[in-house]
Amino acid sequence: MDVVKELKRLIKIKSVTGSEGEIGKYLFQRFKKLGCKTELFEVDKSRFNILAVIPGNVNAKLGLLFHAHIDTVPPYKMKSPFEPIIKDNHIWGRGSVDQKGGIASVITAFENILSEHETLTSGVGFVGVIDEESEHRGSMFLKDMDIHADYAVVTEPSGLKLGTGCKGTMPIKIMVKGKASHGCRPWLGVSAVEYCIKAAGEITSMDFPVHEIKGIGKTRATINLGIIKGGVAYNIVPDECILWFDRRLIPGETQEEIMRDIHGIIEKYNHIPDVYVTAEIARPDWNWEPIKKRGLKPALTDMDSEIVTAVKNAHRSVLKNETKVYFTDGYNEMDFLINDLGIPAVQYGPGDAGLCHTNDEMMDITQLKNAANVYTETIKTLCR
Ligand SMILES: [Zn+2]
Repeated sequence: MDVVKELKRLIKIKSVTGSEGEIGKYLFQRFKKLGCKTELFEVDKSRFNILAVIPGNVNAKLGLLFHAHIDTVPPYKMKSPFEPIIKDNHIWGRGSVDQKGGIASVITAFENILSEHETLTSGVGFVGVIDEESEHRGSMFLKDMDIHADYAVVTEPSGLKLGTGCKGTMPIKIMVKGKASHGCRPWLGVSAVEYCIKAAGEITSMDFPVHEIKGIGKTRATINLGIIKGGVAYNIVPDECILWFDRRLIPGETQEEIMRDIHGIIEKYNHIPDVYVTAEIARPDWNWEPIKKRGLKPALTDMDSEIVTAVKNAHRSVLKNETKVYFTDGYNEMDFLINDLGIPAVQYGPGDAGLCHTNDEMMDITQLKNAANVYTETIKTLCR
């Protein structure tokens, strides 16, 4: 099957986060039919991670592992989310970019290797994980899958640019409780909104560290105050107010240190009568304790790593131009590969990341084909 057909087939299998059962089973069969050693892991009820391997004939450790998430966001108002449409050299459909294009390219690369009867010294693997768009249960489970690999490629869309690292992200919710009273007698109450404003000012004006990334440049930690919510009427002293921040972490930062700093700021308010302040790591869609505890960490692979060189060279040989190497302000699951499994990983995938989660999600067919060829070349470099 060619890579376009491969992607069309994947789009037709609805796999919104929470219902990844069918796509997991499909991928299991698809890779098995290609001739891979294939395994399903039930991570959550009827939701599977899938591992497919072309074994090497010398080393037990894989020379290269491709990683992809198999869930998508909901269709929202997309016109034809699960019946792919081909128009102007693009394939439209939910997941076409995020990130079934990456999966289709890996399937095609594996098919190339197997049909060319390549002898691999070290094996090559593909791991498909559930739940990336929510609580990251699939990648949290990687530790339990007994995967050993020299290098990894996260196949999330990068427009065929080469990402060597990502920031971590930490959703912080601060709740202030005060004491209500009528607006005509404010001295009888304590305004939660006023204390929130003070705390917000202190938190957003903290010193945020900068990290110099070799070969790329400086990156800075940031904070965004996305939500401030409090008060019921203009003439009532508000007794509750919520702040919700998005703190982005650079390499070297941990969420424990950041929470310690936040607590250092808010602690003093707790000594004021009728004021009660709490801070926690919270996201509206996170109920699962293990992910709150672990968090989403920053990750970085060294510029001199062999995986960076291999993908760069493969890109050059297929596209006859140089790929751009970057560090992303966004987050991606290379975090788990680098920080939990100790596998140097990069992000390289087809598609415009700006189209993820939009109603105009569409995959550039040229990029899709190029990605399959770059993956094929990278396998040959690292596994032969
Ligand atoms: Zn994605």
